[in-house]
Amino acid sequence: MRQKLVAGNWKMNGSLAENEVLLDGVVAGTREFPGVICCAPYPYLFQMQEKLQGTHVAWGAQNLSQYERGAYTGEVSAAMLKDFGCSYVIIGHSERRAIFGETSMTVAEKFKAAQDAGLVPILCVGETLSEREAGATFAVVGEQLDAVAGFVGVSALEDAVLAYEPVWAIGTGKTATPQQAQDVHRHLRERVALMNSEVAGKVRILYGGSVKSSNAAELFAMPDIDGGLIGGASLVASDFCDICRAAA
Ligand code: PEP
Repeated sequence: MRQKLVAGNWKMNGSLAENEVLLDGVVAGTREFPGVICCAPYPYLFQMQEKLQGTHVAWGAQNLSQYERGAYTGEVSAAMLKDFGCSYVIIGHSERRAIFGETSMTVAEKFKAAQDAGLVPILCVGETLSEREAGATFAVVGEQLDAVAGFVGVSALEDAVLAYEPVWAIGTGKTATPQQAQDVHRHLRERVALMNSEVAGKVRILYGGSVKSSNAAELFAMPDIDGGLIGGASLVASDFCDICRAAA
């Protein structure tokens, strides 16, 4: 049995005051579910540590540098995230790939940097609408997965989380149907199984893309969907808590 996880991706949202209210609500509203994670912008990691230490809610960041330290102006290292108590870090989100030009190779290096520092990477993969319409979904997510597995070795996936996030479903209100999502999740798990069947049975694969309290339960009921990566709905405590309860 894989423990389900629900991770909130706050993106570039929040303020000290807003986060206070949100985190109080998340802690109070998800006590029966051990798999809650909140991924905040860097400046708020200190606040996350202060508010979440000693609770059942884990926290993380949304990106990190592939480098350990040095002359990389504006970057944040894995060790710095550890200093603020992070357990998780999102890697290769489609917004990082599309807007900030992260390649599969950069993503693989970031994945390795995270694991070397003891962080659990949440590796995002997903196709655009035109790639889906061209029938290339499995090829696209396969390449994104293989780039990381080839760089770090398949056994490293056992201590990681995968997130299937179709780009056309992120922030659009258009959710993949449970069957569409399940088909890609199964493909990802089978692809890992070709490399190592034990790892395939253990790796958690989250679905992300316009998950709401109204569609979470049916998505999470699919056999290869092990929880969700939640953007917009993670900013409203009651919505996020309802989604966590759907995974409990
Ligand atoms: C995301 O950004 O990872 C995401 C899934 O966003 P949303 O839930 O808003 O579609």
